Amino acid sequence: MANIPGFADPDDESRKDDITEKKTKPSKKGGGFQSMGLSFDVLKGITKRGYKIPTPIQRKTIPLAIEGRDVVAMARTGSGKTACFLIPLFEKLKLRIAKAGARALILSPTRELALQTLKFIKELGKFASLKAAVILGGDSMDDQFSAIHGNPDIIVATPGRFLHVCIEMDLKLNSIEYVVFDEADRLFEMGFGEQLNEIVNRLPDSRQTLLFSATLPKMLVDFAKAGLSDPVLIRLDVESKLPTELQLYFIAIRHEERLAALLVLLKNCIDSKQQTVVFAATKHHVEYLHCALDQLNISNTYIYSSLDPSARKINAAKFSQGKASVLIVTDVAARGIDIPQLDNVINFNFPAKAKLFVHRVGRCARAGRSGIAYSLVGPDEYAHLLDLHLFLGKPLTIVNSSNNDGIVGRIPQSLLEEQHEM
Ligand code: AMP
Repeated sequence: MANIPGFADPDDESRKDDITEKKTKPSKKGGGFQSMGLSFDVLKGITKRGYKIPTPIQRKTIPLAIEGRDVVAMARTGSGKTACFLIPLFEKLKLRIAKAGARALILSPTRELALQTLKFIKELGKFASLKAAVILGGDSMDDQFSAIHGNPDIIVATPGRFLHVCIEMDLKLNSIEYVVFDEADRLFEMGFGEQLNEIVNRLPDSRQTLLFSATLPKMLVDFAKAGLSDPVLIRLDVESKLPTELQLYFIAIRHEERLAALLVLLKNCIDSKQQTVVFAATKHHVEYLHCALDQLNISNTYIYSSLDPSARKINAAKFSQGKASVLIVTDVAARGIDIPQLDNVINFNFPAKAKLFVHRVGRCARAGRSGIAYSLVGPDEYAHLLDLHLFLGKPLTIVNSSNNDGIVGRIPQSLLEEQHEM
């Protein structure tokens, strides 16, 4: 990240002799987790989880973090970012120490992401036997006090509640050695800035800090400069890149045809055994679509962020266990839901920002699988469609007889009318 003052660039030629270059070398040769010098138990956890080769961000980040460097990594959901901070965490903490004061703190913007991280800790860290606790807004404070009294090695928390618990319990945090800000742009967007600064002020200077974010707005650069020590910036060209195996279809519709078009896609185009996520603009759209699909016996479930936590958990599990093949979500709710088997994404409402489009559709066609992203484009959404193509550097192709990727077309009127009547 050569061009942000205050950050070291891992690829800078003048750094050839320092630890950055030395440490990344073995991974260039071997390219695998085996060449990262990981301990046996950590490697066993990675193998058990089924990871064979590190993702690009893992290849860059893990060796630096193990070396003890502070890292700012620009990575989106689906890049394998969780393992980027958990593998070095397991290496640093090594064994469970059952005394007061956690040694690692992971701050997440949402409870879903925090619970997802906890799941990764249990799976990837299966053989490290470290104890983790979650401190999340909405859960019982008493349970959280006793979780802290259980002397966890790792705390995964949302910032507001964590700070509250720190104040109530007069926690000093001076035993924290390793801190992660996950989806840091979202942490700030959700208004946790003040709490984050409060938490940072309580942390010891000697800690190692990692910050993961899809975007790096100025406010975050300032936060990283103040809170991290000589951080290395790791940036892959992720923002404007789509998975290579992903096909994009854009479907021009009139406003009143939107639901009928969705039904045509779900009934005529997509195999009912496939897993599909439908992105809708608001929780009201989500509820409306859920009712409509239920009426038509299309197996579906839904999540939006103001849904109560246990219902969200149940619905997410329904989808990930394949009991429902369609999951209807809002963007905020979709954060942190881990769906490795996703086949299709449907943008019921077109995202207003190109980056959001990349975020949404990047959830399918992961790890070598293929996938299709269908987007319904109403008359008032063409501007966003054009903006997206400028952002992606792709030409906009209006459909002709040969069906290609990245095209814009219409659904046959007879099919739409059939669904419209339903
Ligand atoms: P994340 O970006 O951390 O949310 O990870 C996205 C998905 O990729 C999760 O389902 C991970 O389990 C999976 N994943 C992460 N690293 C690897 C890897 N090296 N090989 C295969 N799958 C991975």
